[in-house]
Amino acid sequence: MPYVVGSEIKGYCTKCKDDTKHTVKELVKDSVRKVTCSECEHVHVYRQPRKSGKAKTRRRRKKSEKVKDPWARAMEGREEEEARDYAFSENYEEGDLIEHEKFGRGVIMQNIGSTKMQVVFKDGMKLMVCNRDI
Ligand SMILES: [Zn+2]
Repeated sequence: MPYVVGSEIKGYCTKCKDDTKHTVKELVKDSVRKVTCSECEHVHVYRQPRKSGKAKTRRRRKKSEKVKDPWARAMEGREEEEARDYAFSENYEEGDLIEHEKFGRGVIMQNIGSTKMQVVFKDGMKLMVCNRDI
């Protein structure tokens, strides 16, 4: 059914920011071009209703999209008090929490040999010296 000027049509009103009843004001080749909002009497180009209410919301789950970095994963559930100050003379075990004066908090990921270890810091993985007496 083609609309005629004066017909009622449901559309989106940019002023009301809602789907409102409109009256057709101008037609172009049988399609609605301009409408008058019955709520605010604003005349504007016809816009399709935005199916408010039960419209499917496609919310992007940003939090889950972003993969946690290894540092955040390693730090999860750790207590600040656990952290030991880093010193190259100290001996550490995998999973130990350390506090480095420059890199901050880190977790020992892997012992490499007896004097080196892989530590994950916020900046990334670093190879640290440990268990060395100089
Ligand atoms: Zn309106």
